[in-house]
Amino acid sequence: MDTPTEALHRVFGYDSFRAGQQEIIDHVVGGGDALVLMPTGGGKSLCYQIPALVRPGVGVVISPLIALMQDQVDALRALGVRAGFLNSTQDFGERQLVEAEFLAGELDLLYLAPERLRVEATMRLLAKGDISVFAIDEAHCVSQWGHDFRPDYLALSELHERWPEVPRIALTATATPDTHAEISSRLGLDQARHFVASFDRPNIHYRITSKSEPKRQLLEFLRTEHPDESGIVYCLSRSSVDKIAEFLVDNGIAAVPYHAGLDARTRAAHQSRFLREDGLIVVATIAFGMGIDKPDVRFVAHLDLPKSVEGYYQETGRAGRDGLPATAWMAYGLQDVVQHRRMAMEGDDAHRRRQVLHLDAMLALCETVSCRRVMLLDYFGQKGSEPCGNCDTCQAAPESWDGTVPAQKVLSTVYRLARERRQKFGVGQVVDILLGKKTAKVLQHGHDTLTVFGVGADLGNAEWHGVVRQLLAQGLLAVEPDHGALVLTDDSAAVLRGQREVRLRRDTLRPARAKVAASPKTRAAAAELPAEAAPVFERLRAWRAGVAKEQGVPAYVIFHDATLREIASRAPSTLAELGTVNGVGENKLAKYGEQVLETLADAEG
Ligand code: ADP
Ligand code: ZN
Repeated sequence: MDTPTEALHRVFGYDSFRAGQQEIIDHVVGGGDALVLMPTGGGKSLCYQIPALVRPGVGVVISPLIALMQDQVDALRALGVRAGFLNSTQDFGERQLVEAEFLAGELDLLYLAPERLRVEATMRLLAKGDISVFAIDEAHCVSQWGHDFRPDYLALSELHERWPEVPRIALTATATPDTHAEISSRLGLDQARHFVASFDRPNIHYRITSKSEPKRQLLEFLRTEHPDESGIVYCLSRSSVDKIAEFLVDNGIAAVPYHAGLDARTRAAHQSRFLREDGLIVVATIAFGMGIDKPDVRFVAHLDLPKSVEGYYQETGRAGRDGLPATAWMAYGLQDVVQHRRMAMEGDDAHRRRQVLHLDAMLALCETVSCRRVMLLDYFGQKGSEPCGNCDTCQAAPESWDGTVPAQKVLSTVYRLARERRQKFGVGQVVDILLGKKTAKVLQHGHDTLTVFGVGADLGNAEWHGVVRQLLAQGLLAVEPDHGALVLTDDSAAVLRGQREVRLRRDTLRPARAKVAASPKTRAAAAELPAEAAPVFERLRAWRAGVAKEQGVPAYVIFHDATLREIASRAPSTLAELGTVNGVGENKLAKYGEQVLETLADAEG
């Protein structure tokens, strides 16, 4: 049997553990239970894969990501790990084969869909085998507070009762204190050691920009910063997903849609293309992405506001798992706030309160004038970090200004409409009144005779929208759920009476993007490669694409970009030398070593 470090070198080909991994692995190998909170891309998989390899018996991994099990198992088999899975996508024969391997002790790791455990036959099967560790992946699925609740997860507390001597490790990237506590109690992990890794993802550049013309803004972002690179564009609705995907394709950018309205075959095909092809964009609703462990996603773009900071962080976390520079970009505007404020009013009281809390935190992140990363980390309980220098607010600090008077103008317009006319109107009308526009609707209602008519000529239309957006974000103004009319809140009065100052963020409709785009740090594909190594890297990529296609696996299953990059710049001439490259383990060296050396020799010749 290997030690954990030997397994890391020999099987995975990695030089060293990432922060937190070794401690967790040692604890589980020693038979202890663990609850692991680590950000997406932090390296959770090794935390159960290595114990499964090092301890006698089979590691059983409970994962809801059925569509990805095949890829996960393929990736492990490419490393020489004996892995299999059981889920509803298999026919009886396939399942029997895996069950036989399990019973014969011919597996190191068995992936199971949670609903399998409800089938008594599965429990009986497990009872006949020898289990080294239970890993509960995406453990936040047990939480009813969160957004990915899976009822089948509640049954996982039974594992401990039936196999008290087998260590359990629960892992998640969702780590607000509430979720954390819920996982711990629902899975009966009170006795488990809790490991909380840093939630920072330093290679991700965060940027939230004001939305003016979202399509044009997206196109410019893609063309200037991520041409021909893989990424995900998130939209709220299925129809906008379809529209944006079409728009990108019309503009010569390779993109496919993904949402729950597409049939299962199309969805699976698009996901599989995303994993296998270089430089494809998926435009998707949040239905896409859980567990997508494609390491070279170079950007995640949001065209609509996510419902919560947890959701935002999980979605953006899908960028840059390979540790190379990546961008989390979002365009956000007044309509997002209006729409979300309205949606947040749906459902019962408890649900509404939760939605509002989630939304307020998300809005605060959008409107902040200080470092976004500091705020994100603080949200996940990591207090007091230093400004990061790798987010938009750090790189071009937005001005904040005293918006008390404009705020009063907006609020008193809403107030007067309500008091003097017993009327409620949406943002458009309120801004037209402030600007003194004699539109048909203004004249029809006689709003040109209000005392506030035209008092806002000092600001433009876009600026007033910014003011209203921020008042909504700060809870100084509200929207009615059914018609989206503006109404005052309990906190409005203090502003109207001049007892409360309102700080606003100066919107820059044309953000300081050029500076960022020019920095080589954000262009991962070109980054860190000496000029003479670039064509070698391309040769290696072409070789990898051929092998991946032949085997029907994603390219990264053969080697990651980061590994190919290191091979290209170090140009090893012997197998032994190649074996020291990060990401080249024993199995891959034996399988591909000669071919890689030949490709290198061809590239030279
Ligand atoms: P998570 O499940 O936490 O999102 P993964 O387990 O998928 O993250 O790991 C993210 C990426 O980092 C993977 O591509 C993995 O191969 C790589 N990785 C994990 N641990 C190490 C390590 N110690 N050294 C180098 N790469 C690592
Ligand atoms: Zn910052």
